[in-house]
Amino acid sequence: MLALRKTAAASGLDFAELATPAPAPGEVLVAVEAAGICGTDLHIADWTAGYESMTAAMPVTIGHEFAGAIAALGEGVSGWAVGQRVTVRPSTVCGACPSCRGGDPDGCTGRRGIGIGRDGAFARHVRVPSLNCVALPQGLDAELAAMAEPLSVSLHAAELPAIRPGERVLVLGPGPIGLGIAFFASLAGAEVTLAGVKDMPRLELARSLGGIATVDLAEDSLGEASFDVVIEAAGVAAAVTEGLARLRRGGRFVVAGIHARPAPIDLTRLVRLEQTLLGAYRAPIADWPRVLSLLSRHAEAARKMITHRLPLAEALQGFDLLRARQGCKVILLP
Ligand SMILES: [Zn+2]
Ligand SMILES: [Zn+2]
Repeated sequence: MLALRKTAAASGLDFAELATPAPAPGEVLVAVEAAGICGTDLHIADWTAGYESMTAAMPVTIGHEFAGAIAALGEGVSGWAVGQRVTVRPSTVCGACPSCRGGDPDGCTGRRGIGIGRDGAFARHVRVPSLNCVALPQGLDAELAAMAEPLSVSLHAAELPAIRPGERVLVLGPGPIGLGIAFFASLAGAEVTLAGVKDMPRLELARSLGGIATVDLAEDSLGEASFDVVIEAAGVAAAVTEGLARLRRGGRFVVAGIHARPAPIDLTRLVRLEQTLLGAYRAPIADWPRVLSLLSRHAEAARKMITHRLPLAEALQGFDLLRARQGCKVILLP
């Protein structure tokens, strides 16, 4: 089978022809029907700082946002059947650390990422722990289900500040995560503004979802607006500065972006205005079925986030589209 892999601790990705893997005990083999390209995959391809730990796993097939059908069961797997359609939580847990042994796998300190620390889904087949599978609701197709991972991150970030109907929410960064945050905040009844910098195609896409106002900060400003909640999903220090300056007294600020560098924060102002600073990273395991049911219920809007579909052999074009910020979600069809 064709697989897109990271083979060296340097910029670039390579295609390889591999044998179909066999599931180990406790694992299932998933026939991948759709796999999304994530910002993380771009960082891995371009070898930006922060992914050094995956060197030990190389060569490794990347791709961690996917859905498909179970094609084979490993030894000792129960509760799953061949043909069953699933999406897969990409973060595997170790089963041995104090959190895992204490019944709190969300707190596992020995995680390995499918598509980062072990082979992922930019291939026809991938083997995964059966524990990581989440059954698809009836009628949910693979390309939508492949968005469950990024949208689980969005849902978690949008729920963390406990948004109340009518609150003014500013989301900074119109990538797929920020777009999902804006969408879920607007479903929660907030008045949502999504801001980007030189990001017209993606901001237009946000407006097409309905109920989301947009601002391109390269051409326009937020004026005197202040917000009850600001959620930063841009991963750049300037967004933190801009966002905190827009937050009202007593407001909540959520950092959901992954920052390559520390960001300066005016803590004196934060203290005097009694603002709350929250970090949002990975959604708890328990959120996944809810994300899938939200995807089913809002399929039409969610599908607008998919801007391109490509065969696996043309994956590198999909990476280029994302680098040029032309695409929102690019789905590969292995
Ligand atoms: Zn991702
Ligand atoms: Zn663990």
